[in-house]
Amino acid sequence: MSQPSHAHDDNCIFCKIAAGKIPSRKVYEDEDIFVFDDINPWAPVHFLMIPKTHIPSMAQVGPELALDKGCRPYPEGGFRIVTNTGAEGGQEVHHLHIHVMGGPRPWARG
Ligand code: AMP
Ligand code: ZN
Repeated sequence: MSQPSHAHDDNCIFCKIAAGKIPSRKVYEDEDIFVFDDINPWAPVHFLMIPKTHIPSMAQVGPELALDKGCRPYPEGGFRIVTNTGAEGGQEVHHLHIHVMGGPRPWARG
């Protein structure tokens, strides 16, 4: 089952970035989220959106369905979440959807 999350973790680099204690190239900020450029981009545009609350991973957000479907628990197992957006983002069906992928590797793709 999911592990507890804590509002803040003093050892977490992204908590420090969200609090402005470590500099970043900020894109957007509101009450709940902080958005900043990835320091080592994989693509011409690559930014990170993080909750200000220290949530370790998607496994803490609601893993029940993924576990029911056969994904192994976090952190040894886990799952990958992808949201393709637009043609250059690989989106084929234009109704917002999130891919949830897991299970033993190797996988067909990704
Ligand atoms: P992940 O491997 O999915 O945990 O992604 C972590 C990402 O954080 C990587 O793409 C890193 O380049 C990025 N990253 C690590 N430190 C910083 C930082 N100080 N500022 C911006 N991005 C960072
Ligand atoms: Zn954190």
